Amino acid sequence: MGSIRTTPATGYRGRLAPSPTGYLHVGHARTFWTAYQRAREAGGVLVMRMEDLDLERSRTSFAEAAMEDLRWLGIRWQEGGDKGGPYGPYVQSKRRSVYVEAWRRLLEHGYLYPCRCSRRDIDSAMAAPHERAQSETRGSKLDILDDEPMYPGTCRHLMGRAPQLPGPASANFEKPDGTNWRFRVPDGVAVEFADGKLGPQRFVAGVDFGDFVVWRRDGGPSYQLACVVDDATMRITEVVRGADLLKSTARQMLLNEALGFGNPAWYHCRLVVDHNGRRLAKRHDALSLRALRQRGLTPMNILAAELPVEV
Ligand code: GLU
Repeated sequence: MGSIRTTPATGYRGRLAPSPTGYLHVGHARTFWTAYQRAREAGGVLVMRMEDLDLERSRTSFAEAAMEDLRWLGIRWQEGGDKGGPYGPYVQSKRRSVYVEAWRRLLEHGYLYPCRCSRRDIDSAMAAPHERAQSETRGSKLDILDDEPMYPGTCRHLMGRAPQLPGPASANFEKPDGTNWRFRVPDGVAVEFADGKLGPQRFVAGVDFGDFVVWRRDGGPSYQLACVVDDATMRITEVVRGADLLKSTARQMLLNEALGFGNPAWYHCRLVVDHNGRRLAKRHDALSLRALRQRGLTPMNILAAELPVEV
C-alpha cells in the first residue's frame, strides 16, 4: 500500500461495507442485496470491506457473522479479506498508512484545523453518522437523529488556511495522533448530486452540516475520511448504501474534491423502518438476520418484504 494515487476503474466496482459492531438486520440485507444486484447487472466486481474503525465495539465474530449472513442470503463478492484482491487490505484497521497520507495531504492544503472540543463530538466520528428515517407517509426529508452534531466552529480560529499558522501547543503537525482534526467546510457552498435512486440532492455546507472530524486524538481516522480514501483507492465506481447517509455523501464529496479524487456515482436505498418510523438499529435484535433465520424465515421472505416492517 502506501500510495493514495488512484487510476480510474475500467468497469463497474461496487462495495459492501459492514461495520462489525453487531448482527446485520433486515435493513442491511435489503441494501446489500441492492448493491449485489447492481454489481451483477453491470457485470462488475463487488468488494467486501470491513469497517472496523471502532476498535472497542468491533468484533471479529461479528465480521464473520456478517459475511456468513450475507452468503446465506445469496450475496457473493469477488474481492475482500476472505478472497484477496489487488486493493487490499480490505479491513480498515489494517489501512492506517493510507489514511495518514490522506490526512497529510489535507493538512498541507490547508483544509484542516486542530480541535479541542468535546469528547462526545469526537467519539461519534468513528461510526457512520446515520440519520433518523421517516416513513414515506410522514414526510420526505430525513430528521436528524444521530448525525454528527453541527459543530459551532469554536476552534476554527486555531489555524488559518496555511498550515504554518500557529496552532495550539498540543498539535503535532508531523502526525495526526494526539490531536483531533476537523475539516473546514466552505460555508454557504451547495453540494449537489444526482442520486441514482432518489434523484437530485442538495446540501449546504455550514447550514446542513458543519466542520467535521477527520481524525481523532486517540489515533484513528473518522468514518468520513476512511470511507472516501477506501472508495477511491479501491476504485469504487458506485456507492450503494442507506438513505440515512445522504448528508455524509455531501461531506464526502467535499473530501473527494480536497483530496483530488473523483466522485463515484451515488445510489441511496430507502430505509427499512420499524412501526414508529425509526431506522432499524441494534435495538431491533428480533429483526437480525440470525434471529429471523432461526425462526425459519428464508432469504426470499426477508428480501420480499414479508416482515412486520414498513419500507
Ligand atoms: N460501515 C458503514 C455503516 O454501516 C457503511 C457506510 C457506507 O456504506 O459508506 O454503517
